[in-house]
Amino acid sequence: MSQNPLTIAIIGLGHMGTPMASRLLKAGQAVRGFDLSESARALLTKAGGVGVASAAEAATRADAVILMLPNSAIVTAVVEELLEAEALATDALVIDMSSSEPFATRALHERLAQAGVRLVDAPVSGGVRGAERGTLTVMVGGDDVDVTRAIPLLASFGRVVECGPIGAGHALKALNNLLSATHLWVTSEAIEAGKRFGLDPEVMLSVFNGSSGRSGSTENKWPNFIQPGTFNSGFGLSLMLKDMMIATSLGRAVGAPIALGEDAVDLWRSAGEDLDPGADHTQVATWIADRAGETGAV
Ligand code: NAD
Repeated sequence: MSQNPLTIAIIGLGHMGTPMASRLLKAGQAVRGFDLSESARALLTKAGGVGVASAAEAATRADAVILMLPNSAIVTAVVEELLEAEALATDALVIDMSSSEPFATRALHERLAQAGVRLVDAPVSGGVRGAERGTLTVMVGGDDVDVTRAIPLLASFGRVVECGPIGAGHALKALNNLLSATHLWVTSEAIEAGKRFGLDPEVMLSVFNGSSGRSGSTENKWPNFIQPGTFNSGFGLSLMLKDMMIATSLGRAVGAPIALGEDAVDLWRSAGEDLDPGADHTQVATWIADRAGETGAV
């Protein structure tokens, strides 16, 4: 996939799909996009792409079809819609960049192969800022020949890491987010305990970031979204919980111990039940801060 400009379809123009479409436009590609939201489609047209009225219209005769949708169930439904509308030519390349379920992705790969259509999974990490700046980590899985085809296009989004066969990217992405969610939770507990003891959170973060407690939560999420009180990372709590559940069900399916991960899912689920359905995932810090713990003599 080397000639420019390519025509790329992108289905799902939310927090991530919109800035990713902008990266493709900046790289000189022609972009046709579809989202259920009319305003998201209008935004793409304003940015120099073409917002169209259906997924099938976006995909027809596109060089590649990128999906950036909430979950596997929606990805599968959209792909079935494209097959039904005969919008995917033989040898068309579908790239699922959503954070989907690896076993569902394997099944979808089989389903598409029957129609002569190729699928790779290429979920990302790096958030909305990474999507805007082209600094995402792209975890690609698939057959070698399809991955080779997809890589020049995926390079517009950031660093591409070849993870293995189909579903490998989705598996790795979910496991990454299980780590991310677990350390955000425990970082928020540690900072709240320190505050109640009388420590300054700025001092705590400065020490964590020069010490072994360092993580993406101490280096990025706390200073950029939690300390300023903006909670605007652009990654929803419900999406984080979905990813964690993909990771723990993967652990169960392969018979791996995943006990701390299961506990983390329960904790995040409790916060999700109390917070607004559209809450940013960084709002778990306020949920934790608002809670009373057990006190005991020291
Ligand atoms: P989002 O909710 O902001 O966007 C999803 C978009 O999909 C919405 O605009 C919605 O209208 C659209 N949509 C839903 N069903 C559709 C359908 N049938 N046809 C067309 N459009 C449809 O979500 P997001 O934050 O952009 O995340 C997208 C994916 O990327 C998710 O799988 C998420 O887990 C993953 N992800 C998100 C981030 C982040 O920081 N936001 C980072 C990495 C990965």
